[in-house]
Amino acid sequence: MPKYAQVLVDINKLGTKTFSYLIPENLKNKIKIGQAVSIPFGNRKENLKAYIVGFNDYLEANIKPKEISEILDNEPLFSLKYLKLLEWVSNYYFCDIQAVLNTALPQKFFEKNVKKYRTPKIKNIIFDIAKTNEEKTLSDEQEKIYKEIKKVNSKTSLLYGITGSGKTEIYFKLIEDTIKEGKNVIFLAPEIALVSQLTMRTIERFGADCVAIWHSSITEAQKYETWKKLRNNEIKILFGARSAVFAPIKDLGLIIIDEEHDSSYKQTMPNPRYNAREVAKKLCELYDAKLILGSATPSIDSYYEAINTNSLFTLKNRYNNATLPKVVVIDMKAERAERNYTLFSKTLKKNVEETIARGEQVIFLINRRGFSSYTQCMECGEVIECKKCAIPMIYHAQTNSHKCHYCNSELHNAKCPKCDSEALEHFGLGSEKVEIQARAIFPEYKIERLDSDSLSKKNEHIEILKRFQNKEIDILIGTQMIAKGLDNKNVTLVGVINADLSFNLPDYRSSERGFSILTQVAGRSGRGDKEGKVIFQTYNTQNIYLQNAQEQDYENFYENEIELREMLDYPPFSKMIRIILSSKNEFRAQKSASEIELALSDYIKKLTLDETILILGPSECVIKKIKEEYRFNIIIKNKIGDLGHRTVLRFLKSIKLPNDIKMVVDIDPSDIL
Ligand SMILES: [Zn+2]
Ligand SMILES: [Zn+2]
Repeated sequence: MPKYAQVLVDINKLGTKTFSYLIPENLKNKIKIGQAVSIPFGNRKENLKAYIVGFNDYLEANIKPKEISEILDNEPLFSLKYLKLLEWVSNYYFCDIQAVLNTALPQKFFEKNVKKYRTPKIKNIIFDIAKTNEEKTLSDEQEKIYKEIKKVNSKTSLLYGITGSGKTEIYFKLIEDTIKEGKNVIFLAPEIALVSQLTMRTIERFGADCVAIWHSSITEAQKYETWKKLRNNEIKILFGARSAVFAPIKDLGLIIIDEEHDSSYKQTMPNPRYNAREVAKKLCELYDAKLILGSATPSIDSYYEAINTNSLFTLKNRYNNATLPKVVVIDMKAERAERNYTLFSKTLKKNVEETIARGEQVIFLINRRGFSSYTQCMECGEVIECKKCAIPMIYHAQTNSHKCHYCNSELHNAKCPKCDSEALEHFGLGSEKVEIQARAIFPEYKIERLDSDSLSKKNEHIEILKRFQNKEIDILIGTQMIAKGLDNKNVTLVGVINADLSFNLPDYRSSERGFSILTQVAGRSGRGDKEGKVIFQTYNTQNIYLQNAQEQDYENFYENEIELREMLDYPPFSKMIRIILSSKNEFRAQKSASEIELALSDYIKKLTLDETILILGPSECVIKKIKEEYRFNIIIKNKIGDLGHRTVLRFLKSIKLPNDIKMVVDIDPSDIL
């Protein structure tokens, strides 16, 4: 038995930290990883509560460790495997283990006296639903796919099924089988609203006793209770958003990630900047469990991997053979030529009037991110892009030039690269502008806007959706928030105000996002018996991705996109690492970014890896300033997997930064803004 234990303790204002303690003789045979122990700390009168996270035999000579006082609970709170997962996250995502623990463990664990907390009443209407045990029969296609998934050897399977094809029924069959084998399930969905819908259906099917929910909106006390139940193996199915991947479920047999393409699975702030999909893969590897990814518009990465590992399963038909809504594309250039300078084409206007006259409802999608803009030719619809990176360049008025925010190349006196026209327009359209114009053009209709800017009160989101559901709103205007999961059978018209916006973000993934959002929002129309219609307005009818979205043809979209990714070494043909340097002093931030880029290039050249680890930039970030700090980024495309990853991280660990410079390392960034 080793002499010392490493314990994790939460110290006021310092956060959680690990320290070494002597293991007294009488505890030597009892002590285990994950146990809660009581320790003396500093000059404090009272002992603190801590957790065992490791053992060692040697300490540095100058350290004089104290002794652990007692074991508070013989049953460990987490296992060695779980700790291994946390260590992997810490290593892969380049952050200290404390940051991972702060995300993974409810803070309540670290408070001194656990007995204080009484069991919270998790009173929720969904728990009143009785178990009906109702089992829908699978269609022949569903049955066939279900059997194939059962047979496949690979740990990860991708279930690709068009909207309304009944993926959930297949999930349920797999969950049932897993529970029968005596194992447990984690089920992830991107939005809390989707989580509750799914939970409701699951409780109907499996009963409320064995189901729990885990996401950022539940309280620490509730998390703590759920954690205890997980430890006692009382939970069979755990639902949640991304952080549920860290819930320590016992005897894990299956993880399901629904809408796996969704960017909310990636945490962008703070550390660890993890992707729940990747953490789930690691978790399944450690527990020898299965991972099912599901989507109607899979991420390019997952689809590529599934094809290459023979683990792609496709549902081609809608359940009950329901039809997809009809999608019409409107050329806004033609509208301009006829002197219609509003945001609404004649066709859209006419359809809105007809729809509302029938007592049905309308959604307008304006997919915008406030800070982004792009430049488009008004003659032919072409967008100004960087030739090397194939992302839209951003106009800078100060220098009267266009800049690429990946590689920093600059273009002066821009003309249309396709038709040479000088009729270029900078776009930065937002939902507010749409709302103002819509109110002016349709004064007699009830119009509301739903996006993160318009939500001042906490539950306003739910209130607006309720009123929309009760037909108190004729037209609902929103950003991508309304594209996901909204199920209102009275909506028969969806108007996408500017479909180009979705594709023209300065990010290599914008085509993927654009295709996905347009496909999803189209799926909001005609969900009931009434026929649905969708109108895409565009300045670029030739956009191949837009045509793919119109035809709701994922396979074709994938073929187009994967070719471009390969040509430009984008993922899945490389892994990306983004380094952001920021400072209150713009010059200092830029200078340190340049120095780091130079040093990293040198380092990689010396190892003769400069053909397989590509470095772009430094360049100004698309969002150039956040909270008074100027931001510059370096982007790395690593084409050699683990070796490249370790090499870059080793270099980054060796960097000593001056106090006024901050560095953020984002592994597999979800966007580059
Ligand atoms: Zn042009
Ligand atoms: Zn570029």
